[in-house]
Amino acid sequence: MKLVRFGAAGAEKPGLIDADGKVRDLSGVVPDIAGDVLGRAGLERLRALDPKSLPLAPEGSRFGACVGRVGNFIAVGLNYADHAAESGMAVPAEPVLFNKAPSCIVGPDDTVLIPRGSEKTDWEVELAVVIGERASYVSEADALNYVAGYCVCNDVSERAYQIERGGQWTKGKGCPTFGPIGPWLVTTDEVDPGNLAMTLSVNGELVQNGSSSTMVFKVPFLVHYISQFMALEPGDVITTGTPPGVGMGMKPPRYLKAGDRMEVSIAGLGTQRQQVAAA
Ligand code: ZN
Repeated sequence: MKLVRFGAAGAEKPGLIDADGKVRDLSGVVPDIAGDVLGRAGLERLRALDPKSLPLAPEGSRFGACVGRVGNFIAVGLNYADHAAESGMAVPAEPVLFNKAPSCIVGPDDTVLIPRGSEKTDWEVELAVVIGERASYVSEADALNYVAGYCVCNDVSERAYQIERGGQWTKGKGCPTFGPIGPWLVTTDEVDPGNLAMTLSVNGELVQNGSSSTMVFKVPFLVHYISQFMALEPGDVITTGTPPGVGMGMKPPRYLKAGDRMEVSIAGLGTQRQQVAAA
């Protein structure tokens, strides 16, 4: 199943993509793609529907973030050996975790804003995991039973705020619009998270071309690992790190400027298209 949220920002309705690729309106069935709707029982209920019985969404509707009311938005740093190398950092012995502010979440095609005073705003294509069931102290073997599905995330990052301003990475990771997620939440039955082609282009130039197969810490381990430190709730999002090709790693480094266009894709999970503007 491919679940979506469509409509104006702040007033999105839940929907699903039918066999013809059209958006069907789920607002008569569930209030949102969020919370308990993402659990095993909630997804079973949606799976039992005949999509053709649902009204079509208006043609050309905007996609919102594919999950509503995200509580925790956790990110994994340096989770690809080749990206760690381009960042001049060692592959960590245990996953690096940091928070992205949930208030940075936007739709997949919404404008990405360069923060005021920023000179080092950068891109990161990532596979994001959406939690479906409350996960606390789960084993690696059982971890995927707590996952609702997957989506594309652009972990937009301000490198000076992240690295040069003291303290933790959080400062450079949660600025408004730094978390486009979607277009679709694709349920676990349709995705092998361990082998997905991932690309990101800037102004039509391919800059990231990787695969989730080169992740250091894989999805089941990450869910298990994070659940040792916090309880993950339905609708929480974990973004799992980026393959190489970010602007910081280029020689010389290259950063986003107003007017740039990003295209962010993961095989089977869809494509995001963002224009960049000044905040
Ligand atoms: Zn990242």
